[in-house]
Amino acid sequence: MTYDLLILGGGIAGTTAAALSARKGLRTALLCGGQLGGVCLHSGCIPAKFCLQNDFPDDASRAKRRADVIGTLSEGLLSRLERVDIFYENGALRGKTDVFSVLCGVRGLTAKNVLLCTGSVPHRPGLSPEDIFTSDTLPQRAVILGAGAAGLECASYLRKSGADVTLLEQRDRLLPQAEPEISAALLRSFRRRGIAVRFGVDTPPKGETVIFADGRVPAVRGIGLRTVGLAKVVTDAHMQTAVPGLYAAGDVRGEEMTAHAAAREAQCAVRRICGEADAVDYRALPHVLFTDPAVMWVGETQRGAQERGVQARAVTVPLRSVGGYLAAGGDGTGVCRLVADGAGTILGVHLCGGDAPELSAAAVVLVQQRVRVRELERMTFAHPTVGEALREAAACLEDRQS
Ligand SMILES: Cc1cc2nc3c(=O)[nH]c(=O)nc-3n(C[C@H](O)[C@H](O)[C@H](O)COP(=O)(O)OP(=O)(O)OC[C@H]3O[C@@H](n4cnc5c(N)ncnc54)[C@H](O)[C@@H]3O)c2cc1C
Repeated sequence: MTYDLLILGGGIAGTTAAALSARKGLRTALLCGGQLGGVCLHSGCIPAKFCLQNDFPDDASRAKRRADVIGTLSEGLLSRLERVDIFYENGALRGKTDVFSVLCGVRGLTAKNVLLCTGSVPHRPGLSPEDIFTSDTLPQRAVILGAGAAGLECASYLRKSGADVTLLEQRDRLLPQAEPEISAALLRSFRRRGIAVRFGVDTPPKGETVIFADGRVPAVRGIGLRTVGLAKVVTDAHMQTAVPGLYAAGDVRGEEMTAHAAAREAQCAVRRICGEADAVDYRALPHVLFTDPAVMWVGETQRGAQERGVQARAVTVPLRSVGGYLAAGGDGTGVCRLVADGAGTILGVHLCGGDAPELSAAAVVLVQQRVRVRELERMTFAHPTVGEALREAAACLEDRQS
């Protein structure tokens, strides 16, 4: 039998694609070399958020409850894949004639379309944040290299567990891709919590436990790209590579590297195969950190917008004036920042503190729907909540305009 769609990789990209493909009536095969659910379910998003957002009396109860959460989610995942042929083997492309040939263990399969979802791996060997979030015992002292999302979450978790933590960042601030005000607020809070942070350093000291959080690369080794004439994975906006019928989604594209981007890209690829229009709005992808304090942003920084020639305006509201934030135990360092263009369209929503991850959903709507500052200022948010800071930031921007 020739499959309509064969998917290499059973992480969030691969399983999302497989479930949608089967729902649409395509004959679907999913080749999964590692654990079904991939990094997100077993060593990334879920274990990390589980560790960061809960307190545990001891190592054993943490291990048991983490296994329970992953077990429950794994069952739900399998139930969505009932009409998919799952092969628990690594797969590799073996060329294309009319259809693709794929080696799956020792078996040969054929498919009209192939979707690459093989994910990513740390760019160098050594201890990684994944090891920390899945470990039953934690170091009492650690140096973390890299102040991106995974490094910062790792620092936050280890500090919460009582470890002596030093964070090293090659550049001159935390989260170099975020608004500088957000980086500064997070730095103030980290230092207050006793996390040592050093900038301009890219070599860890000898004799310390070092956690390498300085980047991941697409997992393409052994997947047979050259058998179809490709040197690397590059796609267009519809996740299609230069080879007709060959698509890629998720971390293997080497771009966004978040689970929600991976899932959306997978949906787009399947819809493209079915002849439907769909495209990811990368402008409105959320960036979320479950650190203490938490961080989120959606859309552009003021500088990013200015660099593409937009007359961007921005305002920063300190959260210490927001009742919902202080009442819930905010430490006073939090900020909310709003970026808009000259016509008053919201371009970016940025927040450090409070329930930032949950508010990212509202921020996606504001940015993706191109809501005006004036419209936001006239909305009513529940009191006392951190969301009120968004409305307050809009009011400040409106005042400056008038
Ligand atoms: C510590 C940490 C925390 C994170 N936290 C978040 C978060 O909070 N939110 C968020 O959005 N993102 C988070 N991420 C990123 C997120 O986990 C990834 O973006 C996401 O898992 C990528 O999904 P994927 O399906 O592309 O790849 P993966 O999850 O890497 O899955 C790829 C799968 O394919 C398998 N495979 C590889 N080669 C083959 C082959 N040849 N044949 C068959 N199977 C193969 C692999 O074994 C693996 O199971 C985090 C990452 C880390 C490391």
